[in-house]
Amino acid sequence: MYNVTLIPGDGIGPEVAYAARDVVDATGVSIKWDVVEAGEAVMKDYGTPLPDYVLDSIRHNKVALKGPITTPVGTGFRSVNVALRKELDLYANLRPCISFKGVKTHYEDVPIDLVIVRENTEDLYAGIEHMVGKHAAESIKIITREASERIVRFAFEYAVREGRKKVTAVHKANIMKLTDGLFLECAQKVAQDYPQIEFDNMIVDAMSMKLVQSPENYDVLVMPNLYGDILSDLCAGLVGGLGIAPGANIGDDAAVFEPIHGSAPKRAGLNMANPTATILSAALMLRHLGEDEAADRVVKGVAEVIAEGKEVTYDLGGNTGTKEYAQAVIRHMK
Ligand code: NAD
Repeated sequence: MYNVTLIPGDGIGPEVAYAARDVVDATGVSIKWDVVEAGEAVMKDYGTPLPDYVLDSIRHNKVALKGPITTPVGTGFRSVNVALRKELDLYANLRPCISFKGVKTHYEDVPIDLVIVRENTEDLYAGIEHMVGKHAAESIKIITREASERIVRFAFEYAVREGRKKVTAVHKANIMKLTDGLFLECAQKVAQDYPQIEFDNMIVDAMSMKLVQSPENYDVLVMPNLYGDILSDLCAGLVGGLGIAPGANIGDDAAVFEPIHGSAPKRAGLNMANPTATILSAALMLRHLGEDEAADRVVKGVAEVIAEGKEVTYDLGGNTGTKEYAQAVIRHMK
């Protein structure tokens, strides 16, 4: 039996998180869920959107499935999502982009199956910004050898484990010769330890064009934080949007699996949201736990329901509810 922390989140979070929990439970893998609340709802009682009990539960269980959590714009607390990644040193952000037959996209005839591995802790996201006088502002881009080597090693280890063939490092080392130059140097060095995996590198602007022109040619892409943020949304767009795009934040001691999308407050409580992204995040979690066969069945269930197209949510052109969609996936898993 596994112990897993479940953070339902807010907005559509609880609906998609509980739908994914039902699907995982239906695989027969035995999981004891520790449900913990975070976000605005707990602010009043605990004075923070991320109380210690949330971190303690994840540290103890080492694995969490999480629904999205709203971050107030402007004033209010900082992002719980960013804080979780920092507190638990979840340095690798994994975002697979896989096309499903039946999803209307501009690339319906192109089989896309690629994974973005985004560095999650540094780069321009280190948050070191200041005004220089009144009329200029500066943001500092931090790239370290340690973080670069570990993210590239993570990408290669992932490629080996998942039977993938090629890793592409994405950078802008022609212009940012020191920062991105260091990232590229680290990537080239780590690549030498994996001669069985093809390695190449590409400048981020050229990569953007190539991903739009021929996404089927790419496999595992590894990159610093900002490029990863942008290109993973681009790739989610290639395969059909946020409703079906899963994600994982992985560190050496803990891993948090969550959809890429946010809490979609307008859809909250209406049993409308598409739980696919969270269900596929749960499939990544099952793989992380070593339950590959169960993960395969979840992906098969999702693929069949979407391909049939009769019981899909509004964003995929249907009118099936969140709960009923999850039940359809469960039926198709068997
Ligand atoms: P969003 O992803 O919530 O919504 C963008 C659009 O996609 C909306 O039209 C929404 O209705 C639709 N959408 C999103 N998920 C969907 C789903 N599962 N099924 C059907 N439609 C879906 O992005 P936003 O509006 O920019 O953000 C809302 C809140 O979520 C913000 O407070 C933001 O900070 C937060 N957020 C949280 C996370 C996280 O918890 N990891 C990630 C992103 C955004």
